[in-house]
Amino acid sequence: MEQNPIRIAEILLGLKDVNLIGVEDLGNEDSKTPLRVHIECLGERPKCPVCNGMSYSKGSSLVELIDLQSFGRPVRLIWHKRRWVCKDETCIAPSWSDVDTRIAAPRLKLTDRAARFATRVVGRDGRSVSSVARELDCDWHTINDAVIAYGTPLVEDPNRFGKVRALGLDETLFYREGRYRTQKWSTSIVDVMSATLLDVVPGKGGAEPKKWIASQPREWRDMVKWGTLDLAGSYRAVFKEALPNAVLVADPFHLVKLANTRLDETRRRVQQNILGHRGRGGDPLYRIRRLLNMAKEKLTEGANDKLTRFLEAGDPDNEVATSWRAKESLRELYAYRDPGTRQRPPRCSHQ
Ligand SMILES: [Zn+2]
Repeated sequence: MEQNPIRIAEILLGLKDVNLIGVEDLGNEDSKTPLRVHIECLGERPKCPVCNGMSYSKGSSLVELIDLQSFGRPVRLIWHKRRWVCKDETCIAPSWSDVDTRIAAPRLKLTDRAARFATRVVGRDGRSVSSVARELDCDWHTINDAVIAYGTPLVEDPNRFGKVRALGLDETLFYREGRYRTQKWSTSIVDVMSATLLDVVPGKGGAEPKKWIASQPREWRDMVKWGTLDLAGSYRAVFKEALPNAVLVADPFHLVKLANTRLDETRRRVQQNILGHRGRGGDPLYRIRRLLNMAKEKLTEGANDKLTRFLEAGDPDNEVATSWRAKESLRELYAYRDPGTRQRPPRCSHQ
């Protein structure tokens, strides 16, 4: 147990190298009036910041800071800030006062710990600024200023997203607006490697994502080695302009979708050429239209047989079969996990 009064004060105050001058209670047992705790910095006389010579104290000014509650009462920390002057009369250094950011950041009305507390409970726990202001017995703006001052570096920290090596852009339907349920789009900006959503910007055009990328620090942008995108030209332009060194990678979902669209077109064209009409219920190619679009490995043995037989019947020049093989080869390419592989993809059936 600590019994030395100075150490007791240090422990209660939680600040080292600080001298507790005294405690002032203007409330007369009214627990709502803040306790006023007077402190001053200890430590050596500072050297002159210009000539590095000796300084002397020109007295102190009182700075009132809002601190955390203590024993259920609001607290004001009254910092007796000493003013210092260079001893050398010819020195150009203007006078300066004590700075100790452990006590408070310059120009803020909250102590450092109170500002951290406010930032934490507002930013992380979602408490309102006004409830924190009530607790610390000060006005709304005082808390808000502190939360902005302490919170902004957290939000705008260039390391907030960490290193992103593969950046993905993807359009997403955001909501439908108004009577005609007009589609409103947004673009998701994603860290592809960790599958983390970094941000969402309005629209599915290139302007907003480009602005977003450009606003990131240069070092961050330089670390992006790959850009993944659907096949929309607008995103391709974003990468070309904002991250010209990133290698563009089309995302498999969109590419396979495109391959299936081409396969459908081929099937319809062949049907039309051979039968002279659009696909109907009994036409062989029409009957396997869904099987053609399915992933090969999902076909049962029976489905696989059906596909082979109906292709033979309806696709004399192997045009649909070729288109189908191209789609499956494309899918297989993405199945490789080892980028160093030199092996040829395994051969498909139906050839
Ligand atoms: Zn000096």
